[in-house]
Amino acid sequence: MTHSRPASSADRPVALVTGSTSGIGAAVARRLVREGYAVILHSRSSVDVGMAMARDLEHAAYLQADLADDSDRDRLVREAVATWGRLDVLVNNAGISHVIPHGDLAAATPDIWHELYEVNVVAPFRLVSAAEAALRAAAGRGRPASVVNISSHAGVRPKGASIPYAATKAALNHVTKLLATTLAPDIRVNAVAPGLVDTPLTAAWTDAQRLWKERSPMRRAASPDDIAHVVAMLVAADYLTGEVVVSDGGLNLC
Ligand code: NAD
Repeated sequence: MTHSRPASSADRPVALVTGSTSGIGAAVARRLVREGYAVILHSRSSVDVGMAMARDLEHAAYLQADLADDSDRDRLVREAVATWGRLDVLVNNAGISHVIPHGDLAAATPDIWHELYEVNVVAPFRLVSAAEAALRAAAGRGRPASVVNISSHAGVRPKGASIPYAATKAALNHVTKLLATTLAPDIRVNAVAPGLVDTPLTAAWTDAQRLWKERSPMRRAASPDDIAHVVAMLVAADYLTGEVVVSDGGLNLC
């Protein structure tokens, strides 16, 4: 069900941002509205927040969907395309994490592996698949369409909240490159690989917060707006595809 759909947004390019009622996704949605997009907000459960955001942001609509469910993924893309009749940008931001010490192999159960893989890898791939026709149609208007996947520095270096989480983000980075070669030139596919970002997901990660403050060259974690800025750069850069932009304040250099 679509909530709030201002007719004044009809001539804007359209971006779907998954997981956009909090954290990085909310910052990306706000940023893309400022860049001239009409934005489809999405979340799994926080419908009231999504509807309120859609009312506040002038050019936004909200859709609910559980991305662990394949039929919900299809419905989300169908309803997103139907909202303003086009889809130019897909930001695969929704993701889940489990914090498990890497040495505790027994705690990384098959259920956790499957749950993380379904939401962090299968869902972004299936959303691109469902959106391919609409994105190719958008490219027919003169600019390549754009997919941006939010992965993690943990998918680039052997770090992160848990081995299963890091492995899903490494897989997403590889899927990014495979899709970039497969879907060019109509659809560009890039990824942002953030380090620590101050969001609800990481509010209790005190060790990581200390690490970024004391060791990273930029001496702080990222804000959601820092990551939204990189997403907006990738969306704007018509010649970039297959890039995984590590955005960790330089920690990977240390
Ligand atoms: P967040 O918890 O604020 O956002 C995650 C979003 O994903 C939420 O909106 C949630 O509703 C959505 N989501 C989770 N499971 C879903 C499902 N089954 N169906 C639909 N939506 C679902 O956290 P965040 O930190 O903003 O994370 C956003 C992305 O950034 C994630 O992919 C995360 O892995 C990645 N990331 C975050 C950090 C960080 O430090 N915060 C670092 C690197 C990467």
